[in-house]
Amino acid sequence: MAMMRSDLGIMKILHLKKRGCFLLKLLCLVVLVLIFCEFLVYYVVIFQCHWPEVKIEAHRSSKQSSASVLKAMFLSDTHLLGEIKGHWLDKLRREWQMERAFQTALSLLEPDIVFILGDVFDEGKWSSSQAWADDVRRFQKMFRHPVRTELMVVVGNHDIGFHYEMTTYKLKRFAKVFNFTSGKLITRKGVNFVMVNSVALDGDGCAVCSRAEAKLMKLSHKLNCSQQQEQNHSNKRCSGVEQLPASEPILLQHYPLYRRSDAECTGEDSALPEEKNIPFKEKYDVLSREASQKLLWWFHPRLILSGHTHSACEVLHNGKIPEISVPSFSWRNRNNPSFIMGSITPTDFSLYKCFLPLESRVVTIYCIAGALLGVLILAHLQLLNPPFYFAQHLIRKHKAV
Ligand SMILES: [Zn+2]
Repeated sequence: MAMMRSDLGIMKILHLKKRGCFLLKLLCLVVLVLIFCEFLVYYVVIFQCHWPEVKIEAHRSSKQSSASVLKAMFLSDTHLLGEIKGHWLDKLRREWQMERAFQTALSLLEPDIVFILGDVFDEGKWSSSQAWADDVRRFQKMFRHPVRTELMVVVGNHDIGFHYEMTTYKLKRFAKVFNFTSGKLITRKGVNFVMVNSVALDGDGCAVCSRAEAKLMKLSHKLNCSQQQEQNHSNKRCSGVEQLPASEPILLQHYPLYRRSDAECTGEDSALPEEKNIPFKEKYDVLSREASQKLLWWFHPRLILSGHTHSACEVLHNGKIPEISVPSFSWRNRNNPSFIMGSITPTDFSLYKCFLPLESRVVTIYCIAGALLGVLILAHLQLLNPPFYFAQHLIRKHKAV
């Protein structure tokens, strides 16, 4: 009798051990899938991106030349959700995805400078000062960066509101956090970037608009004088003007320059076919024709990068000036977010688009893992045996009772 009891005890322990082992295996599977989908996948995908080759002036040595190429990263429309419209789970998921993508890109690609082309926040246009502070705190955590990488942010309509809702207060609080001013020139390795507050280019003479336009005109004068002096053209109007690197600038702004619609845009991340032919509204979807023409006249830019549409597009203005619409960096807006990598010298540039993991692919991996988990559990419970064995198993069990 005692023998039988101890046998039963051993069997019970063995059974528990087997079950524990099985649960451990399941847990391992879950943890592995989570680590892959939430962490490793960013490394696997971004590792495949590379800085594009750019022509370098012949007289420079190769060591000098690789150091003289500026590695710049451009992303847009992160739309960090606010307290009013944002659901906590949506916030958590999107912010985690963007943080992982950004941090992985920084560690693998080591850019010199990163530009975010506006609509950093979703509710900056109406958030209370407390909600604003909370949004800023989360942004700074997500987009933290080492000292060797600079981060510059351009203002967008969701950060300070469309022209009619934009106030000096909202603009000032944005400017304070991001050290942003419209018409700000950033020169790195001889490359000139002009940051534009495109929300203030309405042309109606409002106080913010007038100040922004005046600053842009002053800067355009300085840049044009620098280029003329470089070419030894003397101009009385340029005497005493501060000399800047004589490279044609790159414009960075939130609204794209005027274009009729996205009908001409191509590529896998351009607007959806049903949206492409919808005409754009000036001062809402794109800058007005007038403001666009002014920017082209003032700066003669060699490249323009903009956001706002959430989709990709390449446009050629006046037959020679390319504009790149940078798609949204948030999976909330796209299945295939991306960022642009630019190798830039004072005279040339080359761009490459780095796509981030497809959301649909990550969901598929989760679904397959879920199905596998289900099958394993069922198999463990022996419910997957053919009906005959299943019935036999039940009878045996019944008999044992
Ligand atoms: Zn926008």
